[in-house]
Amino acid sequence: MPEPHDPTAALAALAADQSRRPVLLALDFDGTLAPLQDDPAASRILPDGVGVLADLAATDGIVLALVSGRAMADLHALAEVPVGTLLVGSHGAERARVTAHGLDRDVVRLTDDQADRLAALGAEAAAVARGREGVWVETKPTAVVVHTRLADPEVAQAAEQESLALGERLGTGVLHGKAVVELTVLHASKGEALTALRQEIGAPVVIYAGDDVTDERAFEALGPDDVTIKVGAGDTGARYRIDSPEGVVTALARFRDDLAAAAG
Ligand SMILES: [Mg+2]
Repeated sequence: MPEPHDPTAALAALAADQSRRPVLLALDFDGTLAPLQDDPAASRILPDGVGVLADLAATDGIVLALVSGRAMADLHALAEVPVGTLLVGSHGAERARVTAHGLDRDVVRLTDDQADRLAALGAEAAAVARGREGVWVETKPTAVVVHTRLADPEVAQAAEQESLALGERLGTGVLHGKAVVELTVLHASKGEALTALRQEIGAPVVIYAGDDVTDERAFEALGPDDVTIKVGAGDTGARYRIDSPEGVVTALARFRDDLAAAAG
């Protein structure tokens, strides 16, 4: 696979080609639009990004979506995105649309068995975190997440290994990201979420940018005519690379300007 390269030319060509519409512009949040923080609650979209996303969402032929591992309530509180934006949370297990009156959510329904497993997972994950400084557990509607970002490396590694073993033992879905292990009772992936969105919208082309391992599922679900962008360092199946969230916002601003120029 060739080294991922700068997406500027591909985005400019897409902006100029009115026949490839609508474009589904789907973006991860943490590490993509918002610089990574030790405390996930401190995460914020870059200030310049708010206006750029609002302009893009208001552009004919562009559909904006955020696709995140965060729980929906969390994503909505932090994202600062315009009305009409589609939100995908919990790696695809939660879906909603931002309206003028708040969030229009698709309801998540767990079976009794899934609800029981979620409760069991919560208790066992709490035991993993107990006595380990900097390790904490987050409960989502469909998953339990063990966070290790604030722990010493040895402590983090031990907690992550135990969490992975727990997932295997309880037979749940496991997502291992940067300093997180997510154990989910509802099968979901960013790739499936993105494929469903593109079909609903009828988008001939998708732009997707993300920084983490879970974003690789999204890149895999896209084709050679889509624009897949890995943010930051690391192996990837994406065709393009941008170094940082600042670079993502700059590229999106240029894309917005090119779209405006193409519309005349
Ligand atoms: Mg991310």
